Amino acid sequence: MKYLVLARRYRPQTFSDVMGQETIITTLKNALRFDRVAHAYLFCGSRGVGKTTIARLFAKALNCQALGTDHEPCNRCSSCLEILSGQSLDVIEIDGASNRGIDDIRQLNETIGYAPSHGKYKIYIIDEVHMLTKEAFNALLKTLEEPPPRAKFFFATTEPHKILPTIVSRCQRFDMQRLTEAQIAQKLLTIAKDLKREISPEAIHLIASFAEGSLRDAESLFDQILCFTDDAIQAEQVRSVLGLVSDELFFEFDTAFNEGRISFAFELVESLFQMGKDLSHFLEQLIGHYRRLTLAKTMGTPSLCLPEPLFSRVNRAVKLYTQAQLFYILETLLNAFAPLQKSPMQRTSLESILLQILRSKNRIPIEVLIRRLNELEQNISKNEPSASLPNIPIDSNSSSEPDRILQDSDVLDTDTNILCVNEAEKQANPSKSDRASRNEIPESSPKLEVPPEPDVLPIKIEPCIEASVPVSDPDLIKPSVKAECIACCNPIHSVVGQDLQPCIPVLPKAPSVLERKPDPGRYETLLRFAAVELEGTIKN
Ligand SMILES: [Zn+2]
Repeated sequence: MKYLVLARRYRPQTFSDVMGQETIITTLKNALRFDRVAHAYLFCGSRGVGKTTIARLFAKALNCQALGTDHEPCNRCSSCLEILSGQSLDVIEIDGASNRGIDDIRQLNETIGYAPSHGKYKIYIIDEVHMLTKEAFNALLKTLEEPPPRAKFFFATTEPHKILPTIVSRCQRFDMQRLTEAQIAQKLLTIAKDLKREISPEAIHLIASFAEGSLRDAESLFDQILCFTDDAIQAEQVRSVLGLVSDELFFEFDTAFNEGRISFAFELVESLFQMGKDLSHFLEQLIGHYRRLTLAKTMGTPSLCLPEPLFSRVNRAVKLYTQAQLFYILETLLNAFAPLQKSPMQRTSLESILLQILRSKNRIPIEVLIRRLNELEQNISKNEPSASLPNIPIDSNSSSEPDRILQDSDVLDTDTNILCVNEAEKQANPSKSDRASRNEIPESSPKLEVPPEPDVLPIKIEPCIEASVPVSDPDLIKPSVKAECIACCNPIHSVVGQDLQPCIPVLPKAPSVLERKPDPGRYETLLRFAAVELEGTIKN
């Protein structure tokens, strides 16, 4: 007996058998009901969601000789039976991938004018229509615009963006949805029941999640697993066939994270290595695990639709993490995925990634760090509102930027115990050692013995050259003299008998950080937090 694979054996034969595409089915049934069938339809969607199935069902319904009251094809009339067996002369299926040239479309154009053999319509189903060449599309364009009254076109594609817009605009377009895990699981259970095979809920869930929304993929996998054993199917057998790692390893990793046991990174990779598992495939599964935990943390565990005992295990694991930790871990893993695939040292790369995650247990989120810094700053301001308060450079640029986030370029001035925002700011506020190196102050001068400078420097303006030559203009009543400023050597004009004025104003010097009293103890906490954020862990 010829074996028919599950995907073909359980292909929907009526509209009501189709899962997950209710809107499309309703629209097509109403088109039949109101006799408003268009001449071209475009079914888009990822693989295995039922594009060709719906096209065939619609073709069957259009030509059915005994259409039911609910507009379902009868599956008993000669037309339905011919289509079922693939022998209908009125429903022509064309593979767009292998008949993609202009000659194929010319041939179609030549035969389209002939009347259907005994059905109502002549229907062309072109699968993978995006594979047609540009010339083929253009050859199809005229036919598609004004087709013979009894000709219909049903196109199916996984890549609608590759189809010429002029073709798309002549079609009614339907975008098909991926099936949910619950819908796939339900279909697999129905098949298992029909085949009188036992399968555990966890095994069903594994297949459904691995299929990623494609019912055909799920049915093919199920077919493969049915061949693997004739006993009841358990999750472990599914993992073995699919090459998956047991969930137990992920829950052990959660425990190691909670206990801060970073050596587990090496133990886990060693165990994967011994089992001969693909390390990048493992990382993909780990991302799936943390996605599940993050989803449960943000939306609640009921949103996961997991079977027991997996649900309880995930529920317990979620409690070991904060939301910020899960966001950080998921982002880290996603960033590490592509580099790991290209890495020539996959084992060490994976160990490094796992170490980074395990060490992130003590990581303090940047939001908490900024809040603590602001709180500390406010406390200091309340205790010492005088001008002797040390400057905190992380927000000293402007009061309008209170929440500046620490950057990797930020550096610590070891002399003043002040975090400089970056090198540019450090130059703007040079430390004592920097100044000493430029001989501005002696290296040995103690910090607290710097003599206070007066607020305004004394202005000394003395003309170095006096010119006693009076201005030659006799109309001037008061003769003036020419002189030079001692500070800048610019000429100064002054009326004889009056004091000389400075040519440039001398501004009072702004007090520098050196004149302020440093307090290392006060900033220890601030620096400690900064160190945690910058390095990812507390340094004792
Ligand atoms: Zn029929």
